[in-house]
Amino acid sequence: MSDVHFKRMALIGIGLLGSSIALAARREGVVDHIAIHTRSAETLARAEELGLGDSYHQDSTEAVTDADLVIVCTPVGVCEVIAKTIADHLKPGAMVTDVGSVKGSIIKQMAPHLPDHVSFIPGHPIAGTEDSGPDAGFADLFGGRWCILTPLEGEPEENVARLKGFWERLGSNVEIMDATHHDHVLAITSHLPHLIAYNIVGTASDLEMVRNSEVIKYSAGGFRDFTRLAASDPTMWRDVFLHNKEAALEMLGRFTEDLTALQRAIRWEDGDALFDLFSRTRSIRRSIIDAGQEIDASDFGRHIGEGESEAEKSNTRL
Ligand code: NAP
Repeated sequence: MSDVHFKRMALIGIGLLGSSIALAARREGVVDHIAIHTRSAETLARAEELGLGDSYHQDSTEAVTDADLVIVCTPVGVCEVIAKTIADHLKPGAMVTDVGSVKGSIIKQMAPHLPDHVSFIPGHPIAGTEDSGPDAGFADLFGGRWCILTPLEGEPEENVARLKGFWERLGSNVEIMDATHHDHVLAITSHLPHLIAYNIVGTASDLEMVRNSEVIKYSAGGFRDFTRLAASDPTMWRDVFLHNKEAALEMLGRFTEDLTALQRAIRWEDGDALFDLFSRTRSIRRSIIDAGQEIDASDFGRHIGEGESEAEKSNTRL
């Protein structure tokens, strides 16, 4: 296990991701001091009530002063403003990273504003739940989940190794990837599934021939599993689609073509085509279970087990 250690970690944003990092970093003793900044006074006060940090700052520049690790944990769309605001207050040698679900846009938004004397390594832990805010966090969020780092060209190896060591201490497996590749992979594995879920839940609630009460009553037929994704934070997901527009549209184009082929198979009663696809897709789930990214249980393994919260059980994505 890596012996990586930071003296002062500043968290900008203290929602699900920020609070989970605070709890995990504290538990693992990876940082001495946790400085927290968030936009609203209410959320900051709640973070203090929960004891997530050691100091609480309404001013982000105060939070980052003297920090050797700064992690931006806000929605993707505000990262440029944050980079501009904190830039002049970063300590030489500090490491700046983030947890945003999109990487190309984060680089475009933040890199031009950060000074040369800091190291900037974008990151994305593929772990989350549909809950938001400082109460939603838990220390095990990152356990056994992947965290992708997308360093810029020329970033010294030892800096990447240091951040990798930090995420490993929090329980993650770390993969290094190019930002463009990340955005394509996540467009199909995360962004498109969320879009489909938002769409199907929206369609069901607009249907006139099926009552809303029936949608809820018979939801175990499949609909319920979409509602979990469709309950995800609207601000976060709006920003994901606006900031991963090209890759999301490309995957959506492919998806629409394949959907049209399925429509045709149903219309022409091409049972073989349907059966072939459904057989191929069934084996994908088996691979996900074998890779330890899901458990082999009915109900998608998300019924509440003893001693586990709903949040812990549904820690499967993003
Ligand atoms: P969240 O629970 O909604 O928390 C967002 C935090 O950002 C809140 O503390 C919010 O503060 C703060 N914030 C918003 N605008 C801000 C600003 N202009 N300046 C400073 N703070 C601001 O969100 P989250 O789920 O932790 O997601 C955070 C990031 O992680 C997103 O970029 C998302 O793409 C990424 N991510 C999310 C998941 C997931 O499943 N949720 C998984 C992996 C990565 P106030 O409450 O004070 O407004």
